[in-house]
Amino acid sequence: MAETNFIHQIIEKDIEENKYGGRPIATRFPPEPNGYLHIGHAKAICLDFTTAEKYGGTCNLRYDDTNPVKEDVEYVDSIEEDVKWLGFTWNKRLWASDYFETMYDAAVELIKKGKAYVCDLSAEEIKEYRGTLTEPGKESPARNRTVEENLKLFSEMREGKYADGEKVLRAKIDMASANINMRDPVIYRIAHTTHHNTGDKWCIYPMYDFAHPIEDAIEGITHSLCTLEFEDHRPLYDWVVREVGFWKEAPQQIEFGRLNITHMVMSKRLLKKLVDDGVVEGWDDPRMPTIAGLRRRGYTPEAIRNFCEEIGIAKAISTVDVAQLEHCVRDDLKNRVESRNVVFDPIKVVITNYPEGKSEVCTVENNVNAPELGSREITFSRELYVDGADFMEVPEKKYFRLFPGNEVRFKGAYFVTCNEVIKDENGKIVELHCTYDPQTKSGEGFEGRKVKGTIHFVDANNCVELKVRQYGYLMIDDPENPGEQIVNPDSVKTVTCIGEASLKDSKPGEKFQFFRHGYFVSDTKLSKENDLVFNETVGLKSSWK
Ligand code: ATP
Ligand code: MG
Repeated sequence: MAETNFIHQIIEKDIEENKYGGRPIATRFPPEPNGYLHIGHAKAICLDFTTAEKYGGTCNLRYDDTNPVKEDVEYVDSIEEDVKWLGFTWNKRLWASDYFETMYDAAVELIKKGKAYVCDLSAEEIKEYRGTLTEPGKESPARNRTVEENLKLFSEMREGKYADGEKVLRAKIDMASANINMRDPVIYRIAHTTHHNTGDKWCIYPMYDFAHPIEDAIEGITHSLCTLEFEDHRPLYDWVVREVGFWKEAPQQIEFGRLNITHMVMSKRLLKKLVDDGVVEGWDDPRMPTIAGLRRRGYTPEAIRNFCEEIGIAKAISTVDVAQLEHCVRDDLKNRVESRNVVFDPIKVVITNYPEGKSEVCTVENNVNAPELGSREITFSRELYVDGADFMEVPEKKYFRLFPGNEVRFKGAYFVTCNEVIKDENGKIVELHCTYDPQTKSGEGFEGRKVKGTIHFVDANNCVELKVRQYGYLMIDDPENPGEQIVNPDSVKTVTCIGEASLKDSKPGEKFQFFRHGYFVSDTKLSKENDLVFNETVGLKSSWK
């Protein structure tokens, strides 16, 4: 259940006052199908759906497809996949474009009431006539056209008699209003463009500010939740629902602050540019803040929903530290994924006192936080690999891992001492010669002495190679323009690692903790049975307080 917030307080008051005549609460999530959904949309989705759920109401998925130019079916499919993946079920799936006829009729009604007129000014002229915050606007010469003339011109607009931009339909409100949005806003424009849903049926399209309140009203939406940039448009929203007035209990628009996250761009337009420019692999590149990208990155729906719940809903726009999002996914994965041994920057270890050709099974737990996830078997033999970060030829202070002369525990196996570093002619380390103590096998109760370090290993005779993609932030602060972000030229690095053999059976999309490294997911697009590719979801350590 969603926690309470200022929107819920409004709704509870409305319910108490029976504002909607006992009708259930109805919300909608209204994406424009002009790009993939991002984490900002997830905030709106969570709010719209959980609010409806909390009050026993419904939430529609409605495509706000009133702008034919930028819309695409690929986006529609992705939006549905993402909403479902987040775990929500819509009441109805609807298209704003299915209401075009009703919207047209509503516009005709406005004309008949003397509340709308066809204007011949160009876009630039309209802008010029509109005035400024300190100066009132100037009336269009077309403002006082007769109803008959307006009806004829509007019908001709629909018939395709005019070119794009030649005429518009404007609401006749108040050119001196303190709110510029009320100075005779354009409500219909001409666009001779094929629409993905209505084809070539229409060459005039309603503007958002006219269309949206009508969409809400047709569907019986009670609370139309949107982001703060629409606050100044609310008087127009209310004007439209009042003037068009074919319903009793008008929907009300309530605004909340949009989500911004550090190191992320949160605009479909800018994200599309990254895709089109080939900066990323696609909308679902694991570095993208899209739902599809986060999914491919290894995020879970629960992590995203918890994040949205945690940041809460407020009127003010907030910028959230990306570390908080990372904290949520780490927190979710930590109790539910199994761990695997993977060594990065591998160093070969030869256990010189271990018989050649022998191999033995060691049992290791899958998740120390979740005993119910059981244990698995790995093998120990004469030749192993350890992580490059777990060996130092000349140890720094307080380094308790492997170095010449030091003894550590190989997790799940034995105490191992490093005796000798073998190098090639260039001074590069080829292998470490070590010895193990047969008395010290894990789980057999050895109590003779203690070691300070425990490291993991992979059996060189029972392992698999994997490509691992490690990520930095896609966006970084622009050193030249404080407050601006630029694309990080160095946001992905692919390294080859060696993992325990059981990883051969991993399936695309499967998530693991790579022991002591972080959380990783087998890439759903690139990972193949004999060519495993993993994406780093998030590291183990949190900088989030
Ligand atoms: P963008 O600027 O990324 O294209 P948009 O607002 O134009 O976003 P829509 O498809 O129109 O995208 O948005 C659908 C819903 O999601 C709207 O109700 C919008 O207010 C909400 N939304 C979009 N971005 C955010 C955000 N960053 N935080 C919260 N809600 C958002
Ligand atoms: Mg939009």
